[in-house]
Amino acid sequence: MAELTQPATVLSVIDLTPHVRQLVVLPKTQKLSFQPGQWVSLKLPVGPKPPLNRAYTMATPESPSGELTLVFDLVPEGMGSGYLYNLKAGDKLLLSGPYGNFVLPQPLDREVLFITRYTGLVPIRCMLKALYAHRETSPILLIAVGPAENELLYHDEFLSLAVLHASFRYLPLVASSDESAVALTVTMLRPLIEGMSHVLPMLCGIKKFVRPLRTFLVETGYERKEVKTETYD
Ligand SMILES: Cc1cc2nc3c(=O)[nH]c(=O)nc-3n(C[C@H](O)[C@H](O)[C@H](O)COP(=O)(O)OP(=O)(O)OC[C@H]3O[C@@H](n4cnc5c(N)ncnc54)[C@H](O)[C@@H]3O)c2cc1C
Repeated sequence: MAELTQPATVLSVIDLTPHVRQLVVLPKTQKLSFQPGQWVSLKLPVGPKPPLNRAYTMATPESPSGELTLVFDLVPEGMGSGYLYNLKAGDKLLLSGPYGNFVLPQPLDREVLFITRYTGLVPIRCMLKALYAHRETSPILLIAVGPAENELLYHDEFLSLAVLHASFRYLPLVASSDESAVALTVTMLRPLIEGMSHVLPMLCGIKKFVRPLRTFLVETGYERKEVKTETYD
């Protein structure tokens, strides 16, 4: 991780759902150039041995102004997300980056199957913003699991995207436990996968969600390395 560590200012704070917050931050020393799916490392002044390093993915593609949009859920007793939840516009942060290989291949020549749980949607949202900004793209199916109906991130945005673009299918699911999130996704996915040609699967969320679903996809005929994953914990 040789990238510069630099100060950044919080420009705005808004709630996207009752437990998910968006921070727009502006790096002060150097503009970051990044690909959708990449993340920054925040160095937070908390924990037994500060700084506490926590990764947050950009939710919006690179912009001329250099602002970064970060979106996170408040993890119960989570030190990092708890600290971020108390930040206000004008506060300062230290960050470095960008990092990460969870990005779309170029060119994109296959249907994409995105499967996400809760804030695991953040990198995918960034990719979708970039993909649909200029042109039509390969067909995309997004399965997004949230812990409650009012915690479905970007729900209205994706409903609108599905209306505007025939190539985009959006399947939101609600499941509160780790086990039910996996079970419900498998139930919905099984018949869909059978009717699809070989797609590019990209999965993001915590390990308890991502790993069993990767195993499921491997059992249906995908090679392990074909299933791209990003895990948060
Ligand atoms: C590459 C990468 C990108 C990430 N991008 C994002 C992002 O865009 N948005 C975001 O909210 N988080 C993201 N994370 C997770 C983030 O870095 C922190 O781990 C998360 O905010 C929890 O930190 P904490 O200190 O509050 O909780 P901790 O005290 O570290 O507790 C983490 C525990 O809570 C559970 N948990 C529940 N929800 C989450 C969650 N969302 N992330 C991690 N663990 C969770 C885990 O099972 C884990 O055991 C990313 C992580 C990685 C590795």
